[in-house]
Formats: sequence, C-alpha cells, structure tokens
Amino acid sequence: MLKTYACVLVIGGGVVGASTLYHLAKKGRSDVALCERTELTAGSTWHAAGLLTLFNISYAVGQLHKYSVDLYKGLEADTGQAVGFHSNGQFAFGLQS
Ligand SMILES: Cc1cc2nc3c(=O)[nH]c(=O)nc-3n(C[C@H](O)[C@H](O)[C@H](O)COP(=O)(O)OP(=O)(O)OC[C@H]3O[C@@H](n4cnc5c(N)ncnc54)[C@H](O)[C@@H]3O)c2cc1C
Repeated sequence: MLKTYACVLVIGGGVVGASTLYHLAKKGRSDVALCERTELTAGSTWHAAGLLTLFNISYAVGQLHKYSVDLYKGLEADTGQAVGFHSNGQFAFGLQS
C-alpha cells in the first residue's frame, strides 16, 4: 500500500537511493519511503557492469569498498535475495576483506 506519510523520503531508486533506504531500514526506521520517477535502477545503475574494484588511492574510498564487499557477501543471508556476488582477483586473495 502506498504510504501517505514518511519522515524520510529518499529521492531516486538507483544504487545510492536503494542503499540509503536499506541502511535506514536496517537501523529500524519504518517511517521512510523511496520515490523513483521511472523504475528502480533505471539510471546509471542499470548500465553499471557490476564491478567492485579495489584499486584507488583514497583510504576513505578503500574503507567504503571494504564495507561494500562485506555487505554484498552477507546480503543473500540477510534478505533471502541472491545478488550474484563473486569474489575473485584481489578479493580471492583476501587482501581487503
Ligand atoms: C556504462 C557504465 C558502467 C558502469 N560500471 C560500473 C561498475 O562496474 N562499478 C561501479 O561501481 N560503478 C559503475 N558505474 C557507475 C555507477 O553506475 C554509478 O556510479 C551509480 O549507478 C550511480 O548511482 P546513483 O544511485 O547515484 O544514480 P542512478 O543509478 O542514476 O539513480 C538515480 C535515480 O534517480 C531517479 N531520479 C532522478 N531525478 C528524480 C526525481 N526528481 N524524482 C524521482 N526520481 C528521480 C532516476 O530515475 C534514477 O533511477 C558505471 C556507469 C556506467 C554509465
């Protein structure tokens, strides 16, 4: 059923918006909603090859990538939804996670 009230409204259902909503829900927020003008992942996210690379020179981005690897690894167990995440290359050697 469509919500008529939300404390937090996430605009855009790409990977950033979906992730924002997911993390808010994980923190126990139920007064949240997502608004997408076309359909989920219709923007850049639809075009993404799905690569989660580790080569970057920023420590902060490296930590973000490490968090993302751990998140994707546990997403199927958490949601019951297979996401097709495969660890290979750097991941397979356990350099970051
Ligand atoms: C060809 C290609 C390959 C890529 N490959 C990779 C890759 O392998 N790995 C990687 O990490 N990144 C990759 N990227 C980059 C990645 O796709 C983007 O960084 C990421 O998808 C951006 O996500 P987003 O949620 O910010 O934007 P988007 O996915 O564009 O989502 C924005 C959403 O907001 C909606 N929206 C906009 N305005 C409104 C409004 N006013 N009201 C409601 N909804 C609105 C849009 O319809 C859209 O669905 C690739 C990009 C391209 C183009």
